[in-house]
Amino acid sequence: MKHVDVLIVGAGPAGSSLAAALAAAGASVILIDAAEHPRPKACAEYASPRIVEELARIGLAPEAWRDTAVPLRGMDLRVGERTARISYAGRRGPRSAWGLSRRSFDERLARHAGDSGADLRERTRLMRLVHRAGRVHGAVVRDLRSGSEEVIRANHVVGADGARSTVARMLGVDRSVAFPRRLGLVAHYTGVKALTDHGEMHVGRGWYVGLAPTPGGELNVGMALPFETSRGGSRQRFEDAIAGLPAVAERLRGAQRISPIRGASPIGHRVERVAGPGWMLIGDAAGFVDPFTGEGIHRALRSSRAAAAALLGVRDVPNAYRRERRAAFTAKAALSWAVQGALAAPGLMELAAARLESRPAAALKLGSALGDCRPATDALTPRAIWDMLSP
Ligand SMILES: Cc1cc2nc3c(=O)[nH]c(=O)nc-3n(C[C@H](O)[C@H](O)[C@H](O)COP(=O)(O)OP(=O)(O)OC[C@H]3O[C@@H](n4cnc5c(N)ncnc54)[C@H](O)[C@@H]3O)c2cc1C
Repeated sequence: MKHVDVLIVGAGPAGSSLAAALAAAGASVILIDAAEHPRPKACAEYASPRIVEELARIGLAPEAWRDTAVPLRGMDLRVGERTARISYAGRRGPRSAWGLSRRSFDERLARHAGDSGADLRERTRLMRLVHRAGRVHGAVVRDLRSGSEEVIRANHVVGADGARSTVARMLGVDRSVAFPRRLGLVAHYTGVKALTDHGEMHVGRGWYVGLAPTPGGELNVGMALPFETSRGGSRQRFEDAIAGLPAVAERLRGAQRISPIRGASPIGHRVERVAGPGWMLIGDAAGFVDPFTGEGIHRALRSSRAAAAALLGVRDVPNAYRRERRAAFTAKAALSWAVQGALAAPGLMELAAARLESRPAAALKLGSALGDCRPATDALTPRAIWDMLSP
């Protein structure tokens, strides 16, 4: 029977980056994924500027992944007739967000985990957790090629298995999402006229569509729609959403869809606790709200940094991890919820876009906070809110 320091379930950005960090520090790590890279992932593929720093920390300099991404100087937020340009700046000047190919980006990260010393096992699924003396002490995994099962003992089991986390469900800590409940749909297009170096976010009444240029001259069309199980198939809803936003329909005129429409419903995921004896949850498995603020990938990488610090540093791992997460995410979560509140009140969103359109400094401050280039609290001060919304 194999015994390792850490068994990680899920080789997405969260699991692969944690595996790379731990293995490079000398820990024995098994990283399993039910899929095999390159695998598709329903994602709008617009990533925060700050993924650069997170990747560098685990030994991936920009040269090692830049071919899986295109730099984007910002995001045009379009609400009705208003377009506000949201861009980013850190202490050293302007920053770029990234339009990713998740297929190649996630594959690069998983291979990097293997190169760093983790035992990467693809097409291997978690079947059940093993408990001993009141703590999680390993798992039974199945090799999907041979059908054989194996018990892996581990000092810690990490659930990095995304927004439908089996680990969270097996531990009984997952909770249903009451708000916002949205259906996410994405597809790739080619032949889009005049791709720019900006993403676009088009906000309708109750739904939104994001456009992100990605490598190879493609455009990712991603949307979040009201979660109504009774209404039509995915394809119909996807096409209706595009038709309902004339500026999006115009951008896609003459372009061809070159991928299936992929979906996630509902998009979000909540958990009651993120860590306990012998286990922790990272990335989407630890909770995910909505991709409007484009932060899932960065958040996955940042949460794996918090997990690595706790696993490598201290005896009381669960508490250390919770503390790290609070420090990293509390202010940003407040800002993201404020944006969700505005999205739920279309009048407010329209007002914000109108104000930000004519106030580039306020738009830069908000963008930089959303892009983690400056503290989220900077965009939450009474002064910042006044600068953004005052008449
Ligand atoms: C519609 C939509 C649009 C989005 N757009 C954006 C965006 O533009 N920008 C952004 O930053 N974020 C976006 N996100 C969020 C982003 O995709 C996630 O936050 C990110 O993928 C989280 O990474 P992760 O490693 O936690 O999980 P994932 O990337 O979901 O990886 C989880 C891995 O676990 C594996 N797995 C699952 N179950 C098991 C099992 N039982 N056994 C073994 N392996 C298993 C899966 O195969 C998968 O590879 C979007 C999400 C959705 C749904």
